[in-house]
Amino acid sequence: MRFFILTIFPNYFDCFKNYGIVRKAIKSGKVEVNPINLRDFTEDKHRTVDDVVYGGGPGMLLKPEPIFKAYDYIKTLSKNPYVLITEPWGRRFDQQFAKELSQKEDIVIICGRYEGVDERVKSIVNEEVSIGDFILSGGEPAAVVIMDSVIRLIPEVLSEEESLRVDSFSDGLLGYPNYTRPAEYRGMKVPDVLLSGNHRLISLWRRFMKLKKTYQKRPDLLEKAILSVEDRKMLDYIYKGKDFEDYLKGENIA
Ligand code: SAH
Repeated sequence: MRFFILTIFPNYFDCFKNYGIVRKAIKSGKVEVNPINLRDFTEDKHRTVDDVVYGGGPGMLLKPEPIFKAYDYIKTLSKNPYVLITEPWGRRFDQQFAKELSQKEDIVIICGRYEGVDERVKSIVNEEVSIGDFILSGGEPAAVVIMDSVIRLIPEVLSEEESLRVDSFSDGLLGYPNYTRPAEYRGMKVPDVLLSGNHRLISLWRRFMKLKKTYQKRPDLLEKAILSVEDRKMLDYIYKGKDFEDYLKGENIA
């Protein structure tokens, strides 16, 4: 998969490319992150990328020509790139959106700056994307968020594919709580069930805790999640404020 990011700050992505999973994915050739400097596609000696807004008003806009020319250049490298533009009013970015993008071959991300971009740029755009209801000073941090979440969904990028399955949102629910050693720290104990070695009990506890966390923190997700008969039983306990022990006793699970 290849990303082409149209930006006036190509070095913004140096840090992103150099750490963790993203760095590994790039090294192994599974992904390319190619920032494209819009100033390289200007024609005047000042390499101007912005201009005043027609009709008046504060601030500047990114000019259309460097963006169209950079896009023409990308088209010489990629037949059918999927083009995103970062916009605060775009489709809200979420795990489902990230999954869809992870199926694409080449993705272009146009990063706005100043007051945004000339509206005619939209003629080459497939989707407008927002990372939330707040205003950033530019599209670059949004592009980093998008690329990071998409890259970890590319097959074989994560060494343990397992973590894709248990991550929050992957099955429509939030993740269960995790603990590592020591078994007791500053008076706080790891739940007994996790030390029991009983794998069936552990997986029931994890499911219970996923449902409980989702109910407490994001009840809206429960409406859309695909729930089993067992899940619904657990939720009956959770709605009544009962805990995992109550569920085990109530359902006669040893
Ligand atoms: N004038 C615009 C804000 C421009 S902010 C308005 O009134 O809404 C400058 C640039 O930052 C935008 O063009 C966009 O590319 C990016 N940006 C700002 N907030 C964003 C968000 N929530 N999600 C994605 N991109 C955003």
